[in-house]
Amino acid sequence: MSKKNTKYIFVTGGVTSSLGKGIVSASLGLLLKSRGYNVTIQKLDPYINIDPGTLNPYEHGECYVTEDGAETDLDLGHYERFLNSRTSQNNNVTTGRIYQTVIEKERKGDFLGKTVQVIPHITNEIKRRITILSKQNYDIIITEIGGTVGDIESLPYIESVRQLKWELGEKNSIVIHLTLLPYLSSSGELKTKPSQHSVRALMEDGVAADILVCRTEHKISKEIRAKLAQFCNVGIQNVIECMDMETIYEVPLYLQKQDFDDVVLKELGLKNEKKADLKDWKNFLKKYSNPKKSIEVALVGKYVSLQDSYKSIAESFIHAGADQETEVKIRWIYSGDVTEDNTEELFDGIDGMLIAPGFGDRGIEGKIISAKYAREHEIPLLGICLGMQIMTIEFARNVIGLEKANSMEFDTSTPDPVIALMADQKNVVDKGGTMRLGAWKCTLKAGSALSEIYGARNISERHRHRYEFNSEYKEQFEKQGLAPSGFNPDTGLVETIELKDHPFYIGVQYHPEYKSTVAAPHPLFIAFVKACTKK
Ligand code: GLN
Repeated sequence: MSKKNTKYIFVTGGVTSSLGKGIVSASLGLLLKSRGYNVTIQKLDPYINIDPGTLNPYEHGECYVTEDGAETDLDLGHYERFLNSRTSQNNNVTTGRIYQTVIEKERKGDFLGKTVQVIPHITNEIKRRITILSKQNYDIIITEIGGTVGDIESLPYIESVRQLKWELGEKNSIVIHLTLLPYLSSSGELKTKPSQHSVRALMEDGVAADILVCRTEHKISKEIRAKLAQFCNVGIQNVIECMDMETIYEVPLYLQKQDFDDVVLKELGLKNEKKADLKDWKNFLKKYSNPKKSIEVALVGKYVSLQDSYKSIAESFIHAGADQETEVKIRWIYSGDVTEDNTEELFDGIDGMLIAPGFGDRGIEGKIISAKYAREHEIPLLGICLGMQIMTIEFARNVIGLEKANSMEFDTSTPDPVIALMADQKNVVDKGGTMRLGAWKCTLKAGSALSEIYGARNISERHRHRYEFNSEYKEQFEKQGLAPSGFNPDTGLVETIELKDHPFYIGVQYHPEYKSTVAAPHPLFIAFVKACTKK
């Protein structure tokens, strides 16, 4: 099935959702990569949406975008940040996408009159999506299965794992089951029964767990380990404890201490004497935990009630902060709360401001007021995507004097559409997958602040938006000092703006946060943290 002897690791979850399968998968990926394996991680999501692009961030957190323009689950962000490698369209698949493919094939007559069924047609498509990654010559593919064992939606995935385990043969695939050990404070006990039940639920679907990873708030005693091993059919060394950590970046080290990666390799029949070298990782953690300075950044956005909506931005601050040995505290500001009268109070004592990406007109005026405040008070401001558009609107209204300037996203009849719909977007009606997505080139002006920051003039960054800086207004902006400084070399579209005579007032149409990793913190975030420290 695979080109070479690719090994497969399936990560399932039991008892509850949100146990951190993504972090455990990313941590394992890092450990294996550090031992010399070429590893990738994939997420299978059991919902019917074709991709998470159309999901509400309040419910589902951030939509993460890959180089090749896939709108994906936020777990892919963790994979990239931990492994410092790129994911793609193939790394995130939903039930919707699986069914879409099968139904399209059915309409073309590809099934030659057969009745199209969950088994084998849907499961075949799931298996194809899993094994397709082996074409890219990975040694190990980790597939995280979203949802919880026992859910109706998860069944076709578990069935596909069952089939694959047989087809791939012994030692070529394993199942890691992540489960929760609840703690009963009244009796002072960790309980194993829910885990036993969820392992049994997995068995009822024909899949045995090879390794148990137990989320717990307390250390697991020898007795509990033995009990779990006995009831769940795994060796005692295959019961791995995963306590709550101060930061997600400690998880790989914590798992390594229990020889998690050795246990995994043994189950996969791989002999490897090389230990994972996590020197750089530890160095990052040391800097992160012992900051010499501290800054506070106001993050102005409308989804702040679910901070996962800005996951990559928050993580980028952690990477850049550690790099600069600076603690970056985030003050979450709901843009709908900001008025002309409360800026002093809301932004009291901040060292910098970030205006977040977003969609729709709620909270827009609050963001415009925030941008004005940062501009007038010389507070370092980084505007990302919608944030850059806001900076443009604010400047047009308050400096250029175009009082009714707006984005066509919020006011289609504005006399001054300083942010406008691109020509190729005008006739688009479908919402899903139709934005300007993925990596695009950008050429920075010689001598611009951004070309300094990047140390390069030709860069590439990821996008996710429909609207653009309206180039018809370019000269007016330049004349007043908010100059476009980065352009797409093929279309001439404005990608970045920066204000003269301000410590740091930079807006970018792209999303730098998608490319920041532990091993390679993003230069723009580093520069922003530096500017805030100076403030
Ligand atoms: N809503 C804006 C657009 O579509 C900005 C999108 C974003 O911030 N990601 O252009």
